[in-house]
Amino acid sequence: MSAFSLNLFVRAARREKLPQAVYAQLIDALYGTYASFVAGMVCGSAVGLVSWLRSGDPIFLWATAAIFGTCAFRTVILFWYRSQPRGDDMRLREIAAWELRYAAGAWTFMLALGVTSALGVYEGNDLITLLYGSVVAVGCAGAIAGRNSARPLIVSGQVLLCCGPLAISLLSSGEPYLLGVSGMILLFFAAVSSTTKTLYAGLRRALVQTQAVQKLAALHKREKTRFDDALNTMKGGLCMFDVSGRVVVINAGLRCYFPTMNLASGATIGGFVEAIGGATQASTEDLRRFGLELRDRLEGGRQTPVELLTADGSIFEFRVSLRAEGGAVVVVDDISERRAAEREIKHLAHYCSLTGLPNRFRFRDEIQRVLSNASKGLGGDVAVLYVDLDGFKEINDSLGHPMGDKLLIEVAKRLHEAAHGDMVARFGGDEFVVLKTKSGSSPEQLAKRLIDAISESYAIDGHHLVVGASIGIASWPGDGETADDLIRSSDMALYHAKNAGRGQYARFEPQMDADAQRRREIEMDLRVAVASGAFELHYQPLVDASSGRILACEALLRWRHPDKGLISPAQFIPIAEDTGLIVAIGEWVLAKACKDAMSWPQGTRVAVNLSPIQFKRGDVVGAVLSALRTSGLPPERLECEITESLMMSDTPATREAISSLCAMGVRLALDDFGTGHSSLSRLHGIPFHKLKIDKSFVDKLGQTPESMAIVKAIVSLARELGKTVVAEGVETRVQMDILQKLHVTELQGYFFSKPVPIADLHEKLAEPRVIKLGQAA
Ligand code: C2E
Ligand code: MG
Ligand code: MG
Repeated sequence: MSAFSLNLFVRAARREKLPQAVYAQLIDALYGTYASFVAGMVCGSAVGLVSWLRSGDPIFLWATAAIFGTCAFRTVILFWYRSQPRGDDMRLREIAAWELRYAAGAWTFMLALGVTSALGVYEGNDLITLLYGSVVAVGCAGAIAGRNSARPLIVSGQVLLCCGPLAISLLSSGEPYLLGVSGMILLFFAAVSSTTKTLYAGLRRALVQTQAVQKLAALHKREKTRFDDALNTMKGGLCMFDVSGRVVVINAGLRCYFPTMNLASGATIGGFVEAIGGATQASTEDLRRFGLELRDRLEGGRQTPVELLTADGSIFEFRVSLRAEGGAVVVVDDISERRAAEREIKHLAHYCSLTGLPNRFRFRDEIQRVLSNASKGLGGDVAVLYVDLDGFKEINDSLGHPMGDKLLIEVAKRLHEAAHGDMVARFGGDEFVVLKTKSGSSPEQLAKRLIDAISESYAIDGHHLVVGASIGIASWPGDGETADDLIRSSDMALYHAKNAGRGQYARFEPQMDADAQRRREIEMDLRVAVASGAFELHYQPLVDASSGRILACEALLRWRHPDKGLISPAQFIPIAEDTGLIVAIGEWVLAKACKDAMSWPQGTRVAVNLSPIQFKRGDVVGAVLSALRTSGLPPERLECEITESLMMSDTPATREAISSLCAMGVRLALDDFGTGHSSLSRLHGIPFHKLKIDKSFVDKLGQTPESMAIVKAIVSLARELGKTVVAEGVETRVQMDILQKLHVTELQGYFFSKPVPIADLHEKLAEPRVIKLGQAA
């Protein structure tokens, strides 16, 4: 099959502007039946055989064989076509190829038939041969014109190849045939041509229309399936109402929400509400309201959703949207989980998730409500009690946060019980606040009750825990008119309660406000001082109790304030500790003290005070190491003074830091001994070298027998432990004499020397025995 002939058919198909699917169908119709093939084969072969019988010429046997052969060829093509997959996606060239194959078979057959008939006419001049050959040829051409009318090219070829030779032969057979045959041929061509065209045009139109209708139907079917799928797989329920307010569509989601719903197609809005009510068993009142609201949305076109609470506590949301062409769509969602989550979020925003107590925000709302009532003369006395736990941090640090959390839960329970109905809130950490509105007891009585309740020991996970509480009290309206003022005042009172010692409560006093203001000012100035280096170190000697020789000097920090002059550490160190500034200050003190000590006689040690905050929030070991390295001071000449409160927060990190300091060779002194809360068992584990008896015991020596007994006990304890013992704050000869008699190793106090600047200290250090015992400094 040449490419030329294939292109001929492709171009013809394109010229016809046939939709490809229609073209494929037309070609498919050509291969539709064997019947015409068989009829053609029988009649064609018969023409050959009749001609041979009448004439005896063997050429007709060849002609018969040719007709038969072309028919066989066509049958093979037909089988081949039928065995091929034939889909809508056949390409144009493929279809044209099949048309070409068909045309080749059809044309060859008609040519063989036409030539055989023509030979019969021309050669035999026999009437039967002539009649039979002409009738079969013309009949075949006519039948083909009808059968293959959809493919005019094939029809024209077939008719031409069949009738052409026959007509030539008839014309050449003499006058008698001339007129009749010409007329017959002319009529035939006219008939074929008009029939073909008319038939083909109609057929083509029908096919194109059928295909369009089929396509449309398929499209509708697809869209309907998609619509159904979308409806039934959508999350949520859907019900569609037509213009007259009747239900036309409901989806699977709606049935899933309300499985027992009995809703007939065509039900009205009233029927819809009734069916929902029946399926949910919502209360009559809820259902009535729901019905009214839904009707309102459907009629008024308002978008706001309507909610329905069912008997089992589920909440459904119905949203109405009106359709442009009339009617409405109601979309239903189960919003029970969403509402629960919203409730949870609201709860979390107002309550502490650990203890379940109201939080700061909820507390503020409540206090504002209470104050608003109180200002109208409703309700009783109002007071705020700010509660802070004593010793909670230590437990949390040493036993871990999970234990701390459990303790907080227990504390919350006890506070709640002891508050006797007053609101208890947790402000965070170990801070709780009680809003006292109930009369019956005074704020002080309530505070005492709360402290007692909290201070009872706790047994948690096999641990025996003890915490205390400090409380600040502020009453309305004297200590603050607004919620914020009251909370602030109670917080200030708490600060004072804490400073007064553990387990205390304090009432707010106006002075506290001034104190707080002063603290804030100091805090701001301190930050500037740290940056500008406004600190100095003064030194106070520690003398040998028997020889009076200076063994060590304690570095004591001084702040030279631009307006207020020299400020003592007692005033600013607690603030520096609260703000964490002590870490940077402490590093500076260590570096400076070690550097200064390098200018002192060999063997004279320097004592530096370390704050517990430096252990908790700073790298105290690193700071000591750096100070020693930079100055070149041997570690054994540095004494670090730590307080008993550090031992209270006996965390693994603190222990590790203390061990590291000892391992370095630095000496450790326990400062202010006897004033803290350390137990002797804790003392046992600390590798200290020196005990410093607090000034408060030394002060009363010679005045009270108790102080004498305490000092004696401390000295013998130190001796037993093999530690050096120092008495601080020695101011009088009497005190010195007693301490000497008690065999205290070292003495420190104004009696020998006040803390002095480094220049003055040098003078004292220059003398071999600077401080003569028994002589005031
Ligand atoms: P501390 O370590 O117990 O120091 C002894 C305090 O007692 C010093 O007060 C000293 O001046 C005072 N003192 C010594 N002998 C006598 C005496 O005979 N009579 C009286 N009335 N007082 C005497 P200062 O210098 O005001 O220091 C107070 C506290 O501030 C220190 O007590 C110490 O805990 C802390 N501190 C001082 N410097 C530093 C420092 O650099 N870092 C840290 N973390 N704390 C420091
Ligand atoms: Mg000290
Ligand atoms: Mg001290």
